[in-house]
Amino acid sequence: MQSNNRGVLIVISGPSGAGKGTICKALLEKHKNIYISVSATTRSPRNGEVDGVNYYFLSKEVFKEKVEKNGFLEYANVHGNFYGTPKVNVEKMLEEGKDVILEIDIQGALQVKENFSEGVFIFILPPSMEELKQRIIKRGSETEESLMTRFKNAYKEINYVSKYNYAVVNDTLDLAVSKVESIIAAEKCRVDRIKENTILDSKEGLIHEQLYD
Ligand code: ADP
Ligand code: 5GP
Repeated sequence: MQSNNRGVLIVISGPSGAGKGTICKALLEKHKNIYISVSATTRSPRNGEVDGVNYYFLSKEVFKEKVEKNGFLEYANVHGNFYGTPKVNVEKMLEEGKDVILEIDIQGALQVKENFSEGVFIFILPPSMEELKQRIIKRGSETEESLMTRFKNAYKEINYVSKYNYAVVNDTLDLAVSKVESIIAAEKCRVDRIKENTILDSKEGLIHEQLYD
């Protein structure tokens, strides 16, 4: 059983261009209690991306060393590059009561699910495949080849939505953000999460008797 104030682990996945990063950024700006894990990757930084902020940009050799030292909570090859969630911080932040978001791909999410069954798994969908393509093009981050890889992979990735607890269509950004906020708020009210909270755990409490006796 988890402790009273333990944070919620939230895993967010979805095809490239669906708006995961944009949604996470908005959540971070609005909620002080959220910690977004910074992943490591072997892909090159995009214009404006900062090492240690957007990602830890590692060479393949250093990434491999970290894998061998068991330094990742999960890792995967995504669109031809390696990505991984560093172990340090995630457990510490959860213990400190922070809600931790992992913005990772499906392969990684399935690995996390094995070790954190209490995690909340959210899949972000684009309103349409055409809109998805336009968003990746508009972002201007990909070469023609990388765009096609990501777009092709999107068709496969969307089939995995059933492995997740929630699906959120990112049509209007504000609405998508508020849906994710609602999911997190609802998860925090789940009885199996708050069972050990003071009032519910009080042996004399009426609420305790009603729930457990
Ligand atoms: P992901 O992290 O899923 O790859 P991004 O957050 O980088 O996707 O979003 C891809 C592009 O789509 C960005 O240029 C972003 O500004 C834009 N975008 C995100 N959400 C919306 C939305 N609801 N409506 C229109 N454009 C959006
Ligand atoms: P991008 O290159 O667009 O930043 O990310 C490409 C894909 O890698 C996205 O689907 C993103 O969710 C995923 N990703 C980012 N960090 C991680 C990670 O630490 N682990 C895994 N498995 N996937 C990640």
